[in-house]
Amino acid sequence: MSGFQEVVGHYIDGSLLAEASAPSQPVYNPATGQKIRQVLMAGESEVELAVQSSQQAFADWSATPPIQRARVLFRFLELMNQHKEALARLITEEHGKVYADALGEVARGIDIIEFACGAPHLLKGDYTEQVSRSIDNWTVRQALGVVVGVTPFNFPCMVPCWMFPIALAAGNTFILKPSERNPSSALFMANLLTQAGLPKGVFTVLQGNKETVEQLIDHPLVKAVSFVGSTPIAQAIYERGARQGKRVQALGGAKNHLVVMPDANLELTVDALMGAAYGSAGERCMAISVAVLVGDIADKVIPLLKSKVETLVIDNGMKPEAEMGPVISAEAQQRIQGYIDVGVSEGATLLVDGRNHVVAGHETGFFVGGTLFDHVQPQMRIYQEEIFGPVLVCVRVKDLAEALALINQHAFANGVACFTSDGHVAREFARQVEVGMVGINVPIPVPMAWHGFGGWKQSLYGDMHAYGSEGFRFYTKQKSVMQRWPENIEKGADFSMPTAK
Ligand code: NAD
Repeated sequence: MSGFQEVVGHYIDGSLLAEASAPSQPVYNPATGQKIRQVLMAGESEVELAVQSSQQAFADWSATPPIQRARVLFRFLELMNQHKEALARLITEEHGKVYADALGEVARGIDIIEFACGAPHLLKGDYTEQVSRSIDNWTVRQALGVVVGVTPFNFPCMVPCWMFPIALAAGNTFILKPSERNPSSALFMANLLTQAGLPKGVFTVLQGNKETVEQLIDHPLVKAVSFVGSTPIAQAIYERGARQGKRVQALGGAKNHLVVMPDANLELTVDALMGAAYGSAGERCMAISVAVLVGDIADKVIPLLKSKVETLVIDNGMKPEAEMGPVISAEAQQRIQGYIDVGVSEGATLLVDGRNHVVAGHETGFFVGGTLFDHVQPQMRIYQEEIFGPVLVCVRVKDLAEALALINQHAFANGVACFTSDGHVAREFARQVEVGMVGINVPIPVPMAWHGFGGWKQSLYGDMHAYGSEGFRFYTKQKSVMQRWPENIEKGADFSMPTAK
């Protein structure tokens, strides 16, 4: 594409900053493969400007009564509901996922905003009267200051919403560094926040890359970092922030298993596998990428699954009939096709081959067809590594114990599911599996806004999960206050450890 391309800039101190001569990189529509915008990359001066503006805004925002902060979020909630279709269209344009899925993403983001509106209740402290005679003790939770969120391409609305509504409700100021591959949703939400009455400097968007993120983490005024993205970067960010004594939660990659027990409802399970493996072209951190087929169910699941994968409707995500859109970029397309080559050379059985998939009318789009492997072995790279594309690998095991052992040895532990009709099996599975989020006959068990989201092992670095009450804990620090009044103070110094009297 030649000619003018819209410039996607930063949102600092309540204004758009789009200096077109700054370093930038293209943003693509993955369905067409065309460049549609240029996104700016923040350098040191923009980082400094953003952090100073956020720090300045912090004093007043953190002193604003929680109910007034919640009222701003209520207005934002209303605006998000009013504009959800436009936001979903923007997501489909820059990400590629089908429009109905983009609408679903926005709805799950809205859930968290709604939850954050309960901040006055959620920020309440504890109080104990008379911890000793005439002495009271209470705890409050106070905002941290300037906090940063770094988010991935796969949920440009929902994942930022895991962070900023809660951080803002708790009285922090927030700097969002969205993915450079689909940067426009962040600005869309910044605009709505301003319309909702959020004071300038309280919410900032900085577009950028690795350098931008590192400058933000290293800035002395930045108190905490929330990150969601791939595991190597999650680990690097966790270590960099922790070394500087900062609070960090860094959510990483995944390889999610769905166990099919011999007594599972076949139709329901195969439909669940289709949606969970190929929805959003497999580019969900909770996508199912491994089917663990227990006993003789394998021979029933595989033919059904194969015929459904072969007839997946793959197209531009704006077409109502599309079930799956493109992947995010030409590089992702190459990487995923490379993994299919690896699976073949490792000796897995390739039942449906999504390489070189062409969508009529979208020949330059970044499409990969639905891909299905059978007889995958645990030592294969296509089993061990995150492919993050529409590739489902099937592993056959003899019983539940073998399924659990397989899952529990994996380096990733984000989500997992078990399909069965047996309550005891379901209960034991949920109890014994070493994974952060578990579904029983639910393929993508993304917890609701008030429960909190997080994996185990290499899927999360840090102690606290995203959103829910853990989100409020992450974005606040506890202060304990003890009080008594002078008329009750006993005379004379006491050199022993004070105890309740
Ligand atoms: P990514 O790790 O490439 O990028 C995530 C963010 O980090 C982006 O904003 C990017 O600009 C920034 N970044 C990239 N390289 C960096 C570096 N070296 N230092 C600092 N920052 C850097 O991830 P992605 O490709 O955008 O997203 C896909 C990945 O995210 C997958 O691995 C997926 O499993 C994971 N993910 C995990 C969760 C979860 O909750 N665990 C949720 C969504 C996505």
